[in-house]
Amino acid sequence: LSDRLSGVFDKLTKQGALSDDDVKTALREVRVALLEADVSLPVARDFVAAVQAKATGQAVTKSITPGQQVIKIVHDELERVLTGDTDPGALKIDNPPAPILMVGLQGSGKTTTTAKLAKRLKEREGKRVLMASLDTNRPAAMEQLAILGAQIGVDTLPIVKGETPVQIAKRAKTAASLGGYDVYMLDTAGRLHIDAELIAQAAAVRDVANPRETLLVVDGLTGQDAVNVAQEFDAKIGVTGVVLTRMDGDGRGGAALSMRAITGKPIRFVGLGEKMDAIETFEPQRIAGRILGMGDIVALVEKAQATIEAEQAEKMMKRFQQGRFNMNDLKMQLDQMLKMGGMQGMMGMIPGMGKMKGQMDAAGIDDSILRRQIALINSMTKKERANPDLLAASRKKRIAAGAGLEVSELNKLVKQHRQMADMMKKMGKGGMLKNAMKQMM
Ligand code: GDP
Ligand code: MG
Repeated sequence: LSDRLSGVFDKLTKQGALSDDDVKTALREVRVALLEADVSLPVARDFVAAVQAKATGQAVTKSITPGQQVIKIVHDELERVLTGDTDPGALKIDNPPAPILMVGLQGSGKTTTTAKLAKRLKEREGKRVLMASLDTNRPAAMEQLAILGAQIGVDTLPIVKGETPVQIAKRAKTAASLGGYDVYMLDTAGRLHIDAELIAQAAAVRDVANPRETLLVVDGLTGQDAVNVAQEFDAKIGVTGVVLTRMDGDGRGGAALSMRAITGKPIRFVGLGEKMDAIETFEPQRIAGRILGMGDIVALVEKAQATIEAEQAEKMMKRFQQGRFNMNDLKMQLDQMLKMGGMQGMMGMIPGMGKMKGQMDAAGIDDSILRRQIALINSMTKKERANPDLLAASRKKRIAAGAGLEVSELNKLVKQHRQMADMMKKMGKGGMLKNAMKQMM
């Protein structure tokens, strides 16, 4: 893949912005690459279309070729699609004993994954875990879980012959409550294919256990089949997350993208082997790199972008030290804030600011303020931006109207700018600015 892609990208012309043709040429090959990575056809097609729309017209970073730029955009978009809104590793296990239901086809890796997760919960979170096998079809499967439990030092529910899965689930619940366990995991029976009985059984167990998490275990090497299975299970049972097993194999992991795109379900963990430690939380960035297979280029573009940002910051600092801080500078800062995830994102990054974030939410302060301020600055003339003192009352009215906002909001912005400019000047004189910016970088 790498060779093929770089061949195409070398042909792309060097220029300031990505042209429609540049992007199209590159994405034709990306599409093939996705299919080779086992991404399903409609998903590959939609993905490419989305990137096409996003990439065209985007600026090419200095010292980077358009082709490399497209790769970075493709990578970022892959990562975005792969990322779910739940923290993959954070299993909902409050209110002990919390039931976790494991479902999936036979041979997908349910029993192994159950034990792997139990070990993780025990070792990383200090949880007391009870595992129960509900696989009444195959007595050997119950033994298998008991053996794994002994191996990792996690209790398993004693095996009682002749019980139905629902009876075992009830007994597990009672045992977990009486035994003071934090979590109990129900490892259900699977079949080679989804059928009505399998679904009915899983649904009956779900109804008595009322699981906090229902994890679907699928074989990551089965591509489109894995996605079909996930859709079926989610429709009939409702799943809270997917575990992709056998990601230690040669597969490129394309199933992960199809899974996200089609089912919308978060991928929570990936299985990376038969050993009890061979499990990791799902990392979108890593899988994106694997699907695309162009990690070097992505790293190169990221480095170039970081260099340019550092150069910009340096330039800005020089200006501030000279007491120059105009509306363009303010706009750059506002843009930067938006890029960093807006007010909320910035607050979340600063230790101890979590509480303030809540207060901001309550007060209705959000990114729309940043966007409105940017809109106001945009409707100023070049001269006014460079020298905000020029803003006369009549112009203020026009500017506010141009941005569709009230003059009072513009006045606030002007005041804010003045305060910041004063602060910059003071800090610049004492050399404090330099220190502050150094700390930030
Ligand atoms: P179940 O029928 O769904 O309970 O599947 P099992 O947990 O019994 O697993 C079936 C086989 O797949 C076993 O031999 C496991 O060791 C193996 N297996 C499970 N997860 C993985 C994985 O992530 N990678 C590899 N290579 N093998 C796995
Ligand atoms: Mg099993």
